[in-house]
Formats: sequence, structure tokens, C-alpha cells
Amino acid sequence: MQLSNDKETDNIEIGKEISQHLASNPQVLNDKKLIKEEVKRRLVSDIQTFALEYDLLFNEEKATLNKDCVLLSLLFRRMFFYKLNEKLSGLSCDHTLRLTKQILTQMQFKRGKINEIIDVFKKNGGQCDCEILYNVESQLIGK
Ligand SMILES: [Zn+2]
Repeated sequence: MQLSNDKETDNIEIGKEISQHLASNPQVLNDKKLIKEEVKRRLVSDIQTFALEYDLLFNEEKATLNKDCVLLSLLFRRMFFYKLNEKLSGLSCDHTLRLTKQILTQMQFKRGKINEIIDVFKKNGGQCDCEILYNVESQLIGK
């Protein structure tokens, strides 16, 4: 997409293009830069523009067995677990919720909501960053 000087008109055009595109053909992104942009958009503003390969991992039938399915599905869609995995890769977990708190803050949740989410993680076996991936994300994905 070419950027012109007339930014406002341009944004409108892009928006139209995207919604038409989504309606006719939900495309799975494979461009690294676009994937990065989509992840950031979902994290910060919960706006889903493109499909990601990661979306295909979600197992709705399995997820709905969890009492906290609504909240956990939202976090999945907004790429919380994806981001946690990315941040934790190459590090060893320090057995705290340091990265989790960082991401939830980046997602612009209020303090009370963050505490509520952390309680749900703990209830589901996620006492630290790595356990959230092993014990919580695993309840939403795969077979
Ligand atoms: Zn850990």
C-alpha cells in the first residue's frame, strides 16, 4: 500500500479495502512484518484485521470446558499467550509473573482487571509465566 500525503483519505481507503477483503477472503498472514503489526494491534486495541496461523490452534470445544472460557478466549484472541511465549523464549522462567504482568499492562487492562486475570491463571495452575503456558494456554489449544 502506497502512502500519500493525504493521510486521512488514505486511512479511509485502507479501512474499506480491509473490510472488503475480510468479507470475501479471510487471509492468513504470512508476512513477518504484517504478523507483528497484527499482534500489536490485537494486544493493544483488540482490533482483529487479519487471520493468523496461530488462530488455527484454538480448540473451541476444549476451551468451553473451562469455567473461565470467556476471559481465557479473549486473552487468546488478543494474543496474550502468543506474546508470553515470544517473551519467554530463550529465557528461563524466574518463577514469577513478571512477563505476564508486563503484557497485561501493555494490553491496557486496569489494575483490578489484571488482578482478576491473575487469579484465574492461578486457579488454573498458572503460578508463574511458564506455568501459564504449560497449564493454561494448553487448555485452549490442540487436541
Ligand atoms: Zn515458571
